[in-house]
Amino acid sequence: MLLLIPGPVQTRPETRAAMAQDYAPWDNDFRAVYAEIRERVRDLAGGVKGEHATLCLQGCGHFMMEAAIRTFIPAGGKLLVPRNGAYAERAVRLATEAGREVVSLHAPDTEGVAPDKVAAALAADPGISHVVMVQNETGSGIVNDAQAVGAVVRAAGRRMILDSVSAFGALPMSLAEQPELDALLFTSGKCLEGLPGIGFAIARVDRLEACQGQAGSWSFDLADVYQHALRAGWGSFRFTPPVQALAAFRVALDLHAQEGGQPARLARYTANMHVLYEGVQTLGLTPYLALRHQGPIIVTIHQPADPAFALQPFVDALKARGVLISNFYNTTAPTMRIGCVGAITPEDMRGAVAAIGEALQELGVRQLAAA
Ligand SMILES: *Cc1c(COP(=O)(O)O)cnc(C)c1O
Repeated sequence: MLLLIPGPVQTRPETRAAMAQDYAPWDNDFRAVYAEIRERVRDLAGGVKGEHATLCLQGCGHFMMEAAIRTFIPAGGKLLVPRNGAYAERAVRLATEAGREVVSLHAPDTEGVAPDKVAAALAADPGISHVVMVQNETGSGIVNDAQAVGAVVRAAGRRMILDSVSAFGALPMSLAEQPELDALLFTSGKCLEGLPGIGFAIARVDRLEACQGQAGSWSFDLADVYQHALRAGWGSFRFTPPVQALAAFRVALDLHAQEGGQPARLARYTANMHVLYEGVQTLGLTPYLALRHQGPIIVTIHQPADPAFALQPFVDALKARGVLISNFYNTTAPTMRIGCVGAITPEDMRGAVAAIGEALQELGVRQLAAA
């Protein structure tokens, strides 16, 4: 089966093979694996030893988002969220339920956030301490420019938390050049092509020291994860970790490096995106985003207007041809969402485009233009 979803992504057999044994998390051999992973992802993010630390939680990206919001923004504190997609909406809910006050910057889900609008929103409200932004909006496929928005946050003397869950490993990042970032968040199961189960934050040590004790949650306190590492060592977890996923993740990092690191991964995903984007246009379908706003991670496509089209039967017909895509969508208009990430190639994408054409034919869909 070719898995074309934004995560958990298709992985390589070498990565999955590392899961096929038992591990004790406190065993000294395993502690070395975890400690090494923490240094390697910090280096991948362009972080600086002694200035940035890698903090992990067992679980998913939402847990990391909640943890970062709780850790770095005090209860009752104010954050600005550029709201141009489904994952930004999730950040709003996580922050609101944690008792932080969200100031909204509404924007269409068809283009990246304009940095000057962020600058204006910050200038209008000096009470906003943080901007919380999604780097790659998995709901639509747009990319928000983390460097350009980061620059206006820095100029305004505010802080930033970046949800890089569907971007890190493929899109460029240099924490050394973005001191406004309190935390960069990602998971094991997306562009780094590991198995799901581990959430990562790479955070500033000075901010972790300054923000002790304000999370209001022991489980989700990244400052506590940091203090624990100082006490118990960088190979130590507070609570039972997903040991198999960690062992697999180290192999995934090796494969990322062997491929040529972030630039090579971005190039492959971009090539995947182009095959898909242009292929479905050739079939007669309409991509949701204009090509100049289209990122390399996710392509969303308008559902055809033809009454013979329905999403679940289409997903089933595609699955019968060995291609699995999401059976839901997150855009304002009805779309289908197809991932360009994971251990997949442009050749796989050509096969997927052919399968999409066949599946539409099987359903008797003739009117392919957007509803
Ligand atoms: C996948 C994703 C998340 C987190 O999803 P989980 O299901 O909690 O792992 C958060 N933000 C973005 C942009 C994502 O793509």
